[in-house]
Amino acid sequence: MNPSVATRTGGALALREFHPFEAHGARFLYMVPSAGIFRLDDASAAVLDALAAGPRTAEALVDRLATVHSEDRVREAIEELRQIRAVGDVDAPREEVANDLPPAGFPLSTMVLNVTNKCNLACTYCYEYGEDKIVDTQYGKQPKFMSTETAEESVEFLLKEAGANPVAHLTFFGGETLLNFPVLQQTVAYARRRAAEVGKRMEFSLTTNATLLEPDVIEWLAENHIGVTISIDGPKEVQNGLRVFHNGKGTYEVVLPRIRELLRVHRTRPIGARVTLTQRNLDVLGIFRHLTEEIGFWEVGFAPVTTSSQREYAIDSAGHDRMLHQFEELGRGWLDAALRDEHHGFSNAKDTLEEIHKGVSKAYGCGAGLGLMGVATDGNVSLCHRFAGSDEHTIGSVADGVDRERQQAFLVDHHIRNKPACHTCWARPICSGGCYHEAHVRYGESSAPNLHYCTWVRSWTHTCLEFYGTLAERNPSFLARFDA
Ligand code: SF4
Ligand code: SF4
Repeated sequence: MNPSVATRTGGALALREFHPFEAHGARFLYMVPSAGIFRLDDASAAVLDALAAGPRTAEALVDRLATVHSEDRVREAIEELRQIRAVGDVDAPREEVANDLPPAGFPLSTMVLNVTNKCNLACTYCYEYGEDKIVDTQYGKQPKFMSTETAEESVEFLLKEAGANPVAHLTFFGGETLLNFPVLQQTVAYARRRAAEVGKRMEFSLTTNATLLEPDVIEWLAENHIGVTISIDGPKEVQNGLRVFHNGKGTYEVVLPRIRELLRVHRTRPIGARVTLTQRNLDVLGIFRHLTEEIGFWEVGFAPVTTSSQREYAIDSAGHDRMLHQFEELGRGWLDAALRDEHHGFSNAKDTLEEIHKGVSKAYGCGAGLGLMGVATDGNVSLCHRFAGSDEHTIGSVADGVDRERQQAFLVDHHIRNKPACHTCWARPICSGGCYHEAHVRYGESSAPNLHYCTWVRSWTHTCLEFYGTLAERNPSFLARFDA
């Protein structure tokens, strides 16, 4: 392209929407809302710096930068910045957040089956049984256990709704999932057979509190290549303070030998731990070390507790700062390992870097109600497992299929278009308002943006962008792993 032809003349140019970051001595832009990443060279950086002082014409930019960059190079840089929409005409209206609803027939990729809503633990912060529950699973109308018939209907539902996807994911959840082990076994056998009959592959995973991991269960999990996530909160004193049996007794001594046996025997899929962070357990580094180095988990993911801000275990603002600093430090460990092409089990860093690499730009906080759905024990289909059994969030049933009208209403209501507070936020391609369940608990409305954690989200995303830039500069081949 001839820059002298390509660069428009005339009106003043101004900066448009982007988030700048630096890594390993290089400057980058995170483009909003395209979620692309652009590395600045000296000329494009100089153009942006000059425009940071106020709008200027292309000619004024050429004049101003003439002692350092040739006219052709400045005009070329302006054109590149225009193309990625980092600069634009000063009087051009701000770009509207797109109103693009997903196409009809969007395929379902993951179905989460709440095979039971019964649990043998009484964790202090539980969103299902605790003070913030949205469905009365204890005294409500839901059966305690999903029947084999409902589980098989769920499999048929998933195979149908998966459309042309060659792989479908079936995830088992609870309550405590393993309380319904017989139905798990029958469902996996049924799903595998039915998937083969219709030319698809089915992948399975489950989440468990590990108390019921008996040898025959472990063997079955390994033989059937079931992905396992263990809910565990950390070392003995932490686990026993939060994850307790109904009589108040801690679970650490019960789960530890079972987890060790699972890790020894189940080698067909990596085993992960999921930690719920509360105000009482914010030692992210210590918990990570314990779960990986001392117990042997392949990876660990951390999620702040979902709860009303009134609870004593809710994370306060100082707690969020502490959590962020610990995430940053653990993230630096992840980055160091990535620079050496080594595995590091901090899955929060890996997941965010993957989204950045893939240029994810979300119109929705997550895939709930679209590519992911939850099934309650009675077969009602809801947005996700956390809403299973909530009439307000039901969008069909495995017997009758998706109620397209309700699904459409949900998709319209929860679209980022309806979250004006997020429209000027640079982190919206990654966050898009966040988890609907968190919003429901915090604000009483699943479509509300989670504005209580914006600072946290933006800080963590910025850190991950810096990690991304460092890898792009120093070990770009590592990023290719995310293409798989
Ligand atoms: S709504 Fe929240 S809990 Fe449900 S799938 Fe989305 S992020 Fe997860
Ligand atoms: S919830 Fe906050 S961080 Fe997330 S997109 Fe909206 S404004 Fe940004």
